[in-house]
Amino acid sequence: MVNAPRSAVEDAARELERRLGLRPERGGLLAAHTTMRVGGPADLLVEVEDRFTLRGVVRLAQSRGWPLMLLGRGSNLIVGDGGVRGIVLLNRSRAVTHGADGVTLTFDSGVPMAKAATIAAEAGLTGLEFALAIPGNIGGAIWANAGAHGAEIATVLTHASLLHADGSESEVPASALQFAYRESRFKSAAGAGEVILGGTFKLTSEEPAVIRERLEEIRRWRREHQPLGIPSAGSIFRNPPTGPSAGALIEAAGLKGFRIGAAEVSTMHANWILNRGGATAADVRALHDHCIQVVRDVSGVTLQSEVAFVGEFTLEHA
Ligand SMILES: Cc1cc2nc3c(=O)[nH]c(=O)nc-3n(C[C@H](O)[C@H](O)[C@H](O)COP(=O)(O)OP(=O)(O)OC[C@H]3O[C@@H](n4cnc5c(N)ncnc54)[C@H](O)[C@@H]3O)c2cc1C
Repeated sequence: MVNAPRSAVEDAARELERRLGLRPERGGLLAAHTTMRVGGPADLLVEVEDRFTLRGVVRLAQSRGWPLMLLGRGSNLIVGDGGVRGIVLLNRSRAVTHGADGVTLTFDSGVPMAKAATIAAEAGLTGLEFALAIPGNIGGAIWANAGAHGAEIATVLTHASLLHADGSESEVPASALQFAYRESRFKSAAGAGEVILGGTFKLTSEEPAVIRERLEEIRRWRREHQPLGIPSAGSIFRNPPTGPSAGALIEAAGLKGFRIGAAEVSTMHANWILNRGGATAADVRALHDHCIQVVRDVSGVTLQSEVAFVGEFTLEHA
């Protein structure tokens, strides 16, 4: 469907309707589904609410050769203003299973991380408190090995249910997922085309009051240190393995508050780019590239992106 005629898109839409009872949106704007609030249209935008339908769309796309992109909460992505060709699958599959051992929880990949943190807390289980702070889904968090407050997915995930590029499914132990700092095999060629259906987490029993206090502490820390409530994608760059953090390097380069169009380097946390209202993806990308260039000139460090750029970009900005 790459640069496909409208008829190919219409055929795919009709097949999704007929076979799976879905109502794909033609040209649905992705800005509405990313936390940075930028991104042009998807040829077809389709939302699934359970694992069965998620599997159905992926297998249909695999068998027909339709390009397919999984979208969780869009909190680690900058989608180009030209949008995404093919199908964008909005994953809202959210079943939760409590293990018989009392310390294991299995979440569908469309469960929001904050919801997972709350469910674990209500079950008197510690280990997922960090998830409260991450505005993504379980699937996106496994993809990124998301982490915060001294913990990350790799600390607590025991295995993931995967739908492979050949249509087969398996339970894969976390040890085979090549987790490292914000890294997993899903970001490499080995994991390309794999869809995360769910994840199983092994946690530890704890007094609910202690867990509640940890959650409150995380909420407080975020409020005090991060520009919440303004569209962003969280940290734009990875922290270098040694030396000052990405935020410290950007601040030292004098870029706090610097703007391109309506994209701005946060004055509160220099590693965040904010959409101050009406920013385009091209603004965000130009500001991201500008930060790399100025930090390199000032400190000699080349920053690496934490966010992924997807879809079609133009080089122009407002
Ligand atoms: C305010 C803010 C604060 C943040 N704080 C943190 C933080 O403290 N720590 C941290 O690590 N991150 C943080 N992030 C980044 C982000 O929330 C995480 O990376 C999150 O895990 C992304 O999940 P998502 O569902 O939004 O993924 P998306 O952005 O929707 O997708 C990211 C990638 O994962 C792929 N993907 C999504 N679901 C699946 C699936 N089921 N199967 C296969 N591939 C899939 C997508 O195709 C895409 O390539 C923050 C972001 C924001 C906006």
